[in-house]
Amino acid sequence: MIFSTPSRFEPALQVASNRSGPVLWFVFHKNNILVIKNTETQEVSIPLVEHATELGLIVTREQYLGVLNGVPCYAAEAAYEALTNPGLEWMGLRSLFSLVDDELFAISGRAFQIIDWHRTHQFCGRCGHKNVQKEGERCLRCHDCGQLHYPRVAPAIMVMVQREKDFLLARSPHFIPGMYSALAGFSEPGETLEETLEREVFEEVGVRVNNIRYFASQPWPFPHSLMIAFHADYVSGEITPDPQEIEDAGWFNVNKLPEKLPSPISISRKLIDATIASLT
Ligand SMILES: [Zn+2]
Repeated sequence: MIFSTPSRFEPALQVASNRSGPVLWFVFHKNNILVIKNTETQEVSIPLVEHATELGLIVTREQYLGVLNGVPCYAAEAAYEALTNPGLEWMGLRSLFSLVDDELFAISGRAFQIIDWHRTHQFCGRCGHKNVQKEGERCLRCHDCGQLHYPRVAPAIMVMVQREKDFLLARSPHFIPGMYSALAGFSEPGETLEETLEREVFEEVGVRVNNIRYFASQPWPFPHSLMIAFHADYVSGEITPDPQEIEDAGWFNVNKLPEKLPSPISISRKLIDATIASLT
């Protein structure tokens, strides 16, 4: 699964003290990641240097991530967008998909979430004083009141509702034209994932479901979701799209698919593909 932790990645908070040599730098400015682009082949790679400052950058924050295939990995934030070294380029995280191998892409997603957490928690949300790194944990601690600030992960469900050989797909107004996907929505405080699913399906399309079965999950670093995907069976109700969130929704089947499906990067596509495979 894209964005899942690579099998050869060992997360850690501190680099081994005897370590020397170049390391991988996952550097961000706003939402873009720094890559080295070979001007002849157009191939893209993640910078491998001893420190990101060698790339001509001013680094405002850095976080150690762990070791990938024996190579330490760091996430960092660059102060400025301007790049002085030739061959360096900023790139949207989604655009990196398929340009680097899946392992590096997954670490890029993790790095982005950690840098984004760090830069959005510089000050305590309770008292407004400065936060400092807490020893031994991926955590920021308020210098004054002691409030702890962990990286945010927002759980969201995704569901493929099935009615015999038909399945329910919908499109949001911000999708590209012709694209439909499975229903999805964020969990609210106090809800189980099953309750989120039942509520979201009813709110978005007015349909009741049961027989909820887990499919798979996927970290989704835009900016800090965890998608948890399920299958469910239709029970009752006519499809009635919520005009605030759903532009159109309907029953599809293997002989009647939408013009476009979500990118292969996403768990929604995996869920749709698995459903189609089970029906053919
Ligand atoms: Zn505080």
